[in-house]
Amino acid sequence: MSTAGGYYVVLAVCFGLAGGIVGRLKGSSFWLWFLISGAVPVVGLLAAVAYRFDNRELRRQCPGCGKVVKLHDALCTRCGTELEFPDVAIASEADSRRRRLSAG
Ligand SMILES: [Zn+2]
Repeated sequence: MSTAGGYYVVLAVCFGLAGGIVGRLKGSSFWLWFLISGAVPVVGLLAAVAYRFDNRELRRQCPGCGKVVKLHDALCTRCGTELEFPDVAIASEADSRRRRLSAG
């Protein structure tokens, strides 16, 4: 029976399209995520949804060496300083200004 195989192809294309659209919305390549999500349907789509694209990521500066790292990083990738979750994220200037005002 080839029915199961046919369903799988349809499924793979659907997941591929979904993954591609998600990837593109996040500023990455449609075709890259189309291929990934088509090759490994469920996992690929989840990866596209969960993937953190660098250009959307909030950042902050390491207090130890001054390197700009991702907001969610627990360790500085340059000097290894343990990073607590910061009060101020670099990407959102307006927001940090508001927080500084309310803090005192
Ligand atoms: Zn550092």
